[in-house]
Order: sequence, then C-alpha cells, then structure tokens
Amino acid sequence: MAGEPQADCLFCKIIAKEVPATVVRETETTVAFRDINPQAPTHVLVIPKAHYPDAASLAAAEPLIAADILREAGEVAAGEEIDGSGYRVVFNTGAGAGQTVFHAHAHVLGGRGLNWPPG
Ligand code: C5P
Repeated sequence: MAGEPQADCLFCKIIAKEVPATVVRETETTVAFRDINPQAPTHVLVIPKAHYPDAASLAAAEPLIAADILREAGEVAAGEEIDGSGYRVVFNTGAGAGQTVFHAHAHVLGGRGLNWPPG
C-alpha cells in the first residue's frame, strides 16, 4: 500500500532503527539525521516516515507531510544556526539528478558558501 515501509529501503530501515543514524530531530511524520557523507559543515537529511520514492510522489499523495518536510528543514537550519547565513534545501529527483536512495528526502546544506548554479 502507498506509504507503507519497504523491506529493501535503506531509509525505512533507519526509521525502524535497524540501521544506525545520527538523528537530530524527529516528529510524528518525519525524521532528520546527519548525512553519512556530508557535503557541507551542516548536511542533514529530512525524510518522511511514510515511504514514497521521491518528493513529487510524496507531495501528490501526502501534501501535508510534504509541508512537514519543508517546515522541519527550517527547524533543522534554525537548530544548526545556519538560518541567518543562508542554507539550501535540495530534493534530488531521479537518477539523472543524482538521486541514489529512492525514499523521498530533503538535503539541508549550510555552514559554508554555496555556489549557484549547483553542479
Ligand atoms: O539525493 P541522494 O539520493 O543522492 O541522497 C542520498 C543521501 O543519503 C546521500 O547524500 C548519502 O550520503 C546519504 N546516506 C546516508 N546514510 C546512509 C546511506 C546514504 O546518509 N546509510
């Protein structure tokens, strides 16, 4: 069923605490944890507890949870004190854009200068 945990999904295993992660925030609908391969001094992933393969499918099925992800990204930035200097929220969508884990996630990046356009 849509949104149910998937046995072969790494992020569903992190939510279930079967795979360790450094969790920085958790709500009823979301988990935020530090990226294992950080690309900036702050690099936190915000994921929905419900399984959807990418941000667009999450937003289509569960718009309130998609909004929770955006709100939590802001809470992470405030908690990391990068909200004043500027930060980036990225949803890589599709392998061609660099998505490697097919459970929707927002990257929250900050703590250094961020170039535009991204690579
Ligand atoms: O957007 P993309 O799908 O490439 O992002 C997946 C992210 O998940 C990567 O930045 C990767 O470092 C991170 N990751 C993690 N913990 C794992 C496996 C992957 O933080 N155990």
